[in-house]
Amino acid sequence: FRDAEFFRRWLTAAAGSFDAEADRLTELDSAIGDADHGSNMRRGMLAVAAALEKEPPGTPGAVLLLSGRTLVSTVGGASGPLYGTLLRRAGKALGDAERVDDAAVAEALTAGVDAVSQLAGAVAGDKTMLDALRPAVEALPDYAAAREAAARGAEATVALRARKGRASYLGERSVGHMDPGAASSTLLFHALARAAA
Ligand code: ADP
Ligand code: MG
Ligand code: MG
Repeated sequence: FRDAEFFRRWLTAAAGSFDAEADRLTELDSAIGDADHGSNMRRGMLAVAAALEKEPPGTPGAVLLLSGRTLVSTVGGASGPLYGTLLRRAGKALGDAERVDDAAVAEALTAGVDAVSQLAGAVAGDKTMLDALRPAVEALPDYAAAREAAARGAEATVALRARKGRASYLGERSVGHMDPGAASSTLLFHALARAAA
């Protein structure tokens, strides 16, 4: 069973990864976007870690809701509302249970990814974060398999042509670069696998 502390450890570890990898994410975004994905996500995730430390929520659902709200309010780019929706929708799915099993975690994160897909009007194959998020949640509740699936999905975006988001303006010239959002989604699932290990 997973309690609020597990989700806090996950997102706090993820914040550390986003902080460490911000330059790489921004570099990816400079190739096919506007060179701000790393700084956007670093700011948002450090705000999440600070919010979770200041007033640790008592349930898994409340941890995810607070984190999602914090991302929406601190990240200006497209990624803020998208990741915010992922966490808020997953938090809503977990309700007010104090402990949840891994099947419930898988179901909640799948609902979150469904909501992202709907909001974004994007599916896997469009060269966005969904290329990592979709296969990752499909591999749950095996957290290590989800991490690998996210990484493979992100790697596969290199060969794709972007159909959504800023990179889509480049058309054919978006081919040959990894999508920054797919790369950052991989960090999220790396941190989840570490928290679960
Ligand atoms: P912005 O594009 O507003 O500068 P970021 O650079 O923070 O925002 O995030 C860019 C990432 O957000 C992209 O790499 C992509 O993964 C994701 N993204 C942007 N628009 C969409 C969309 N319509 N559908 C899915 N993902 C999107
Ligand atoms: Mg950008
Ligand atoms: Mg931007």
